[in-house]
Amino acid sequence: MSEEKKFTYLEELEASEKMDASYDAAHEKFDEKREKAREKRRQAMRAERRRKARKRQILIAYSLRAAIAAVFILAAVFVIRFAVGFSKKAQAKNQEVTVSAAANQAAENTPAAVSSTVSSAVTLSASSEAAGSSGITDWTYTSSDTAPSGDIVATDNAVYTYDQMEKDLYFLEQRYSDKIKIKKFGTTADSRDLLDVVVGPDSATKDVIIQYSMHGREYINSLLGMKQLEEYLKGWDSSEYGGNKYSELVQDVRLHIIPMMNPDGVSISESGVDAIRDASLKSGLMACYQSDVSLGKGDPQINAYWKTWKANARCVDLNRNFDCGWEGTVGTTQPSCSRYKGESPASENEVKALVALKDSINCVCEIAYHSEGQKVYWDYGSTGSVKEADQTLATTVAGLTGYTMESTVSSAQETAGCSDYFVLVCGIPAVTIETGTGDCPLAIDQWATIWSQNTQVLPAIAQMFSS
Ligand SMILES: [Zn+2]
Repeated sequence: MSEEKKFTYLEELEASEKMDASYDAAHEKFDEKREKAREKRRQAMRAERRRKARKRQILIAYSLRAAIAAVFILAAVFVIRFAVGFSKKAQAKNQEVTVSAAANQAAENTPAAVSSTVSSAVTLSASSEAAGSSGITDWTYTSSDTAPSGDIVATDNAVYTYDQMEKDLYFLEQRYSDKIKIKKFGTTADSRDLLDVVVGPDSATKDVIIQYSMHGREYINSLLGMKQLEEYLKGWDSSEYGGNKYSELVQDVRLHIIPMMNPDGVSISESGVDAIRDASLKSGLMACYQSDVSLGKGDPQINAYWKTWKANARCVDLNRNFDCGWEGTVGTTQPSCSRYKGESPASENEVKALVALKDSINCVCEIAYHSEGQKVYWDYGSTGSVKEADQTLATTVAGLTGYTMESTVSSAQETAGCSDYFVLVCGIPAVTIETGTGDCPLAIDQWATIWSQNTQVLPAIAQMFSS
């Protein structure tokens, strides 16, 4: 090999080695990069695994906490329920004790203690109250007795009882089944029915309420209402008022006759405290007697005391319990035979039931029968068209009965009464008719006069709203 060739060879060899070295370096660099990329991916995968594991841990932790919380809540609910139940039982027991304490203290005639204990005793009958307002249903009643062949309602005894009224209504419903429907629109605290006798067809567009004996001792008016009802039904096709047959007068107006608005109170006035069957009501009544007598109210002779009873069996005066000027009504501050307005407006079953009945119909007029002095109370403080309609109604009734028209505003009558409520709250004309003279309960010797003064009231009212 020549020197020149040898040199060229060495140069090529050197170049080749350099290329190899460069290649190796490049390869090494590539491997390094690839390794770095792999490591990075491995790190990312490890991070992802850690993230997922963490997520699982958090999920498990939350689930555990939720489960523990649920267990605690359930346990708490159970404990609270148990505690409330226990406290109610304890409260009921305390009230029982209060009642017997009321009765005992009343028996001992301790005036200062009586008024507060009476309130507790009366409050107790709230459970009876809950059984009240059950809506309006058909009245169901049966009797094995036979109806009299002549008049059903006998007017020879002023002491017209709830039981007699039920029996008479049963016979009237049988005899005049095509003319009347009897509805039960409520229940009293001592479980007597509040009854509404509906005269007039379903197609009539207007309704008039006429209610009697909201005050216990004025029960002679229950007899009056029943007699007015029977005479109206008897004269259906034969009697006329203002040139129209009785049957024609009620084509577009229904009469709702409520012969006994306070059957518990009537029963107390007629038969004394033993007429009341509920033990807690009886205790309240006895405490009420002691309270009244200690305050100089009512006859201390117990039988005479019950005879003048006006309130219901919870010692609340129903005609002071309506939600109309109730807050301002003074009356008495404790349960009493009269003028106690109750714990709250419309607290009593009888009042609630009458308001619910009114709400269920298109009431255009209300008549309240009471028994203190041959008067027609009107003008309850209304104005405009309501006052005008009320004046027309009062003038008509005064003209029929011969009773004196009396403004409740001018004579400063107490508010929260039934007619106040109808006129001022509902804008419905209403009057209060007071039958009889002298102290209640009225004796049967007043019957003939009362009947002659009120014979025409139903047909006259029907005619006022017949067209
Ligand atoms: Zn009265």
